[in-house]
Amino acid sequence: MPVRKLALIGRSLQHAKSPVMQNAALQHYQLPFCYELCDVTEDQFAETILQLKSGEYCGANVTIPYKEKVLPYLDRLTPHAQRIGAVNTIFIEDGRIVGDNTDGDGYIESLLEEFPYLQLSNMRIAIIGAGGAAKAIAVSMAMKGIKKMYIANRTIDQAMRLQKQIQLSIDVEVVTLSQLQEVVTNIDLLIHCTPVGMYPNIHESIVPKHLFYKGLIVSDIVYNPLETKLLKEAKEMGAIPHNGVGMLVHQGALAFERWTGLKAPIDVMRRALYQSLSNEIT
Ligand code: NAP
Repeated sequence: MPVRKLALIGRSLQHAKSPVMQNAALQHYQLPFCYELCDVTEDQFAETILQLKSGEYCGANVTIPYKEKVLPYLDRLTPHAQRIGAVNTIFIEDGRIVGDNTDGDGYIESLLEEFPYLQLSNMRIAIIGAGGAAKAIAVSMAMKGIKKMYIANRTIDQAMRLQKQIQLSIDVEVVTLSQLQEVVTNIDLLIHCTPVGMYPNIHESIVPKHLFYKGLIVSDIVYNPLETKLLKEAKEMGAIPHNGVGMLVHQGALAFERWTGLKAPIDVMRRALYQSLSNEIT
């Protein structure tokens, strides 16, 4: 049987972790698939999508900087990707290429895996950031009907655009990064969604340590390093840390299920990921 190809389409992919995780899952089921990197320039992007349309690839992930740029090339978007306005997963359905977004649901699955007692509809949360990942998480959280959402971002206009996108369904308030200290005592969960603190800038954090307190759940979706400065300080103040590896595993698992129709081997994927991260991370 010929090997079927899956790809991660993006730019500057030398540290991408999806291949190791997806190939481990494909091998687990001994599927005749391989998952490869498609590190393409803006000029090569359209051609890569045409290869996908011609059947050379049977599915793909899409990452920075193409999550929005890919939209006009697709035959259809899932309602969820439409709401977010960005795509991280492409699958083929009845010969049509369909765009989906598994980032936000992947985050929620990782949160509930670690804290199964949480009732999302009772929760008040603050999201720091209003970029691609923040948007996906905010939309997925809004779909769960959470009680209150604060969005804090460096560029307020960007946060206000996100607020407009979701405020019809839930109560959303935009705050500046410095106003975060006024709202942090009113929340149950803080989700950090900017690259601040990511390798090599591991000594940076966007949240002053004194804002953390006992019982607050603090997610950092940055996974390199596994324990960011923000999570380390949250833990020191008695808050409950939640790192970004779970989101990476679960968004990948949901993509795997779209492509293969099989239940993703979460533990196999997580093991492969941790092994690769611990080989690479400082
Ligand atoms: P993005 O679309 O480029 O958005 C970046 C966000 O961070 C924007 O809100 C930006 O604010 C803010 N930001 C950037 N630098 C900042 C700084 N120095 N100070 C304050 N705010 C700053 O990026 P993204 O795709 O959302 O990714 C964000 C992070 O999440 C990355 O580190 C990425 O690796 C990680 N991520 C993890 C997963 C996972 O599975 N764990 C999935 C996706 C992304 P402005 O609007 O003001 O520019």
